[in-house]
Amino acid sequence: MEFPVRCFTCGGVIGHLYEKYKALLKEKNADETFESLGVDRYCCGNHHLSKCC
Ligand SMILES: [Zn+2]
Repeated sequence: MEFPVRCFTCGGVIGHLYEKYKALLKEKNADETFESLGVDRYCCGNHHLSKCC
């Protein structure tokens, strides 16, 4: 499955964040990573988590 360009739940654009997310996750925990990316909605973060882990 391809990582979605937009969050299915809120329509926020998240597709461009995934590569950064993977890179940041090597240094930070998930909460800190989302904060760095400006992902403050749980629904958007959830796409990253479900794809990655
Ligand atoms: Zn969302």
